[in-house]
Amino acid sequence: MQLVFATNNKNKIKEIKSLLPDSLEILSLDDINCSEDIPETSDTITGNALQKAKHVFDNYGYNCFADDTGLEIEAINGEPGIYSARYAGEQKSAEDNMDKVLTNLKDQTNRKAHFKTVIALIIDGKESLFEGVAEGEITETKSGAEGFGYDPIFKPEGYNTTFSEMSLDEKNGISHRGKAVQQLINYLM
Ligand code: IMP
Repeated sequence: MQLVFATNNKNKIKEIKSLLPDSLEILSLDDINCSEDIPETSDTITGNALQKAKHVFDNYGYNCFADDTGLEIEAINGEPGIYSARYAGEQKSAEDNMDKVLTNLKDQTNRKAHFKTVIALIIDGKESLFEGVAEGEITETKSGAEGFGYDPIFKPEGYNTTFSEMSLDEKNGISHRGKAVQQLINYLM
């Protein structure tokens, strides 16, 4: 079976291919010549994942899945949420985004936060959703050199290190995306 992963992020494609059997052929957006910016105009993470998957299914006719992730911080009403990539502006700078979070949480004692990933799958028009959540807290300062995005300021529950101080395997084993991908795989296999 062919299945489009509605992304051109090579790391995400590689990761999912390594977890799925070869009988399932994973195609990227490049592979199907989809080069337009897919709209992401929903006000929820789930809505954006579904919108991306629907765009591919409706316009290209492929069975497909799409993912969307956001960091939701309790003390600031779930921000940055759907704005996670561009919280501090359209330059989408991870450093600027983290600085904005740390400034907004200055003197705040409630530092609870979670990452949420939703994967929307469409097979022959049937929609399925898979969600993965990683609970944790925002640290006072950045620490670690691995990973990306908000990893240097996110300490997962039960650990004394940030995501950024973990190996990729260790992070994948407990992360929001790892959990959502595992559910998708269980469903497909
Ligand atoms: P996307 O939906 O996977 O593109 O994620 C949106 C934004 O959320 C990214 O640009 C990052 O800022 C942030 N993000 C997503 N996943 C992670 C993660 O695993 N660690 C840190 N930040 C993340």
